[in-house]
Amino acid sequence: MTAPSQLSDTESSEAAGRLAKVREGIGRAAALAGRKGDDVTLIAISKTHDAAAIAPLIAAGHRAFGENRVQEAQGKWPQLREATPGIELHLVGQLQSNKAADAVALFDVIHGLDRPSLVTALAKAMNAADRRIPCFIQVNIGAEEQKGGCAIADVPALLAQARDAGIEVPGLMCVPPADLEPAPYFALLAKMARDNGLTGLSMGMSGDYETAVMLGATHVRVGTALFGGRPPL
Ligand SMILES: *Cc1c(COP(=O)(O)O)cnc(C)c1O
Repeated sequence: MTAPSQLSDTESSEAAGRLAKVREGIGRAAALAGRKGDDVTLIAISKTHDAAAIAPLIAAGHRAFGENRVQEAQGKWPQLREATPGIELHLVGQLQSNKAADAVALFDVIHGLDRPSLVTALAKAMNAADRRIPCFIQVNIGAEEQKGGCAIADVPALLAQARDAGIEVPGLMCVPPADLEPAPYFALLAKMARDNGLTGLSMGMSGDYETAVMLGATHVRVGTALFGGRPPL
């Protein structure tokens, strides 16, 4: 990897500039809602970006990162973490049950708890590793057939199952339908969290994180606005 000390001034200042801009947006949106920007965790989604692209953000002082594939994260984060203490790694999106043990070993927070079989697999992996990590329940907020996430009606039962299995659930997570106004979906997720006595809300991406923060997001997951575009998969 490129060590932070080897970064060019341009790379470092561009990363610092993008980070400051997103932080400003979060601060503005939080203020409108009577909250503090510092109370919102900005998760920099570094999927598809290599260690050299991530290093400038670490050098700019950022510590919370997110990935959506276990294997990809295994390939870059152990070294990056060794170089910088205090990194917090989030897994966002779908998780296959057969990757539960690897996910528990590598990540600090999981944002994709969405079905009973995954609760079982994660509880087993956490017990085996003697390591407990909080898991947001991902809700299929737009009831989209092709999308992951727990059905809205099934959230209370999944929450109860997770708690019975000893898994801490800090809140709910969603990805609203693409190309639709996201605010009603964010508001619905916030209401569901309240109804279930949960305070965490993982919602908002590059295009809509300010709206999400105004509607109560505690965690925003921002990739493109921090790293630039991703190559097509
Ligand atoms: C990729 C991804 C993001 C970040 O998306 P951007 O639009 O690049 O900010 C957020 N959440 C999840 C679940 C993702 O997969």
